[in-house]
Amino acid sequence: MTRDDCLALDAQDPLAPLRAQFTIPPALIYLDGNSLGALPRATGARLRQVIDHEWGTDLIRSWNSAGWMELPRKVGDKIARLIGARPGEVIAADSTSVNLYKVLSAALLLQRANPGRRRIVSERSNFPTDLYIAESLARERGFDLVLAEAENIPALIDERLAVLMLTEVNYRSGALHDMAALALQARQAGALSVWDLAHSAGVLPLDLHAAQADFAIGCGYKYLNGGPGAPAFLWVHPRHLERMQHEDLWQPLAGWIGHAAPFEFTPHYVPAGGIARYQCGTPQILGLTALECGVDTVLAAEPFGGVPALRAKSLALTRLFARLVDECCADQGLSLVTPQDERRRGSQISLARDEGAYAIVQALIERGVIGDFRAPDVLRFGFAPLYTRFIDVWNAVEQLRQVLAGGFWREARFAERRAVT
Ligand SMILES: *Cc1c(COP(=O)(O)O)cnc(C)c1O
Repeated sequence: MTRDDCLALDAQDPLAPLRAQFTIPPALIYLDGNSLGALPRATGARLRQVIDHEWGTDLIRSWNSAGWMELPRKVGDKIARLIGARPGEVIAADSTSVNLYKVLSAALLLQRANPGRRRIVSERSNFPTDLYIAESLARERGFDLVLAEAENIPALIDERLAVLMLTEVNYRSGALHDMAALALQARQAGALSVWDLAHSAGVLPLDLHAAQADFAIGCGYKYLNGGPGAPAFLWVHPRHLERMQHEDLWQPLAGWIGHAAPFEFTPHYVPAGGIARYQCGTPQILGLTALECGVDTVLAAEPFGGVPALRAKSLALTRLFARLVDECCADQGLSLVTPQDERRRGSQISLARDEGAYAIVQALIERGVIGDFRAPDVLRFGFAPLYTRFIDVWNAVEQLRQVLAGGFWREARFAERRAVT
């Protein structure tokens, strides 16, 4: 594999034109789209329009005239196309953490008639916010949170399980669960499954209906390119929405925007029908506007084969990166954390090193190669197939090789810990 081979791969790449949707500084190699997606070109102008016209000129009239009230569902419908959900089943609102609280709470409520099921099972290395939310709900509702290594999870799916709560792609290792198999096993065992799609939406073909999952949530600012702190999304299987409606079950954050008639201003809560009840307070219009621009960049791949084509490119990028690291950085103390098996790999490559992982990432950033560090010893590189080129992979590995071979990362300034790693 040579540099020219990588340039040739870019020249043949049918998805290459999609990169022009983004403003990425020309000299930068951005391998952190799994943490904060790149800025779409359309976002700035669209936000200006919403700020100047819809907010500045039309002011409060825009709640009606500019479709602000419908924006959570409109953006939700677009996200639905990426996750195998149907129109009207997804809402864009709040944060991933808050949405997890809503759906996990609803799932526990649906299991209230089964007192033998007192367990929430998750992965020990799941993203901390997911574990903290589950821990707090378990304490409050009298459930046990049982944490296990990925390979031991199937053995915990039994008659004691209330809710299986997993993140499809592990943020740290990039390992991918078999969602269809686990959701089916949970369902057959009489349990519910809740899926966090934070590192999946926009890069992995997803089919929540085919998987017969029960609840799903995900993040707007990673591969959906919605901008820092973008609203997250939330999906509930329609069979639960119907049941909740029928049995008058509320979601726990019963705010006025999830009310059947918010502008009746009645003293008692009556949940809205369908997914609308999973809203809580006033929609974040600027955030939703930016999120819609971000989601549109992923939908723009539809004429090029859509998410399956993005997945194929993502695998080609991660395969190339792992291979070049193996070839160019052998004997440098790096080990591959992400599974070799491509059916078990998300859209990132994580490398571990006993010494200096944080400093190596800092030295790379100074050289214009942006990845990140995940404690205690992981160098993490995300490959957003919408805008990452094969030549970026080549150049990133070349910089990594230089940083390691020259020992540049040992300079004291690279060891200083910043707040965000
Ligand atoms: C990124 C991420 C989150 C982020 O949650 P916020 O509420 O947006 O801070 C949650 N869960 C997982 C698995 C993530 O990867």
